[in-house]
Amino acid sequence: MATSHESSGNSSRSRSMSDQQCQVMCYHGEIAPLREVKYNGPTYGKKFYGCSYWPRTCGYFKWADEVHEIRDMQMRLLEKDTEIAELEMEKGFLEDKIKRLKEQNLSLMMWLKNCRLKTLRLERDCMLLKLTRELFLVWHCHGFFSCFMC
Ligand SMILES: [Zn+2]
Repeated sequence: MATSHESSGNSSRSRSMSDQQCQVMCYHGEIAPLREVKYNGPTYGKKFYGCSYWPRTCGYFKWADEVHEIRDMQMRLLEKDTEIAELEMEKGFLEDKIKRLKEQNLSLMMWLKNCRLKTLRLERDCMLLKLTRELFLVWHCHGFFSCFMC
């Protein structure tokens, strides 16, 4: 539950730091520096990544905002993957817990059934004892006991 808050916090942090953190490689396999369009025109001041071997460039060119957008998407994808993995783990943990609780429930039910059986047997024994006593009293008080003895 707390992970979703954390991950959204991370993504906003990574977006604000992407200007400094982005390391882009050109086709030479070298770091492409972040530059700014200096020519007067509609793209003046726009940032881009380009090959550092100007004018013998390898042809690598990407607008910085596009690169940052892709990085953000990749970051978000990674965060979602992590979130999924965490939820899968939590799911497995909860499934284990359910299984254990079901087993405990079953043994408790068995125990309860056993207890009921014992109580029933005890009640039956008590009843038998009471009946025997009453029978004895009836015999004793009405003289049946002595009759029975002789
Ligand atoms: Zn290059």
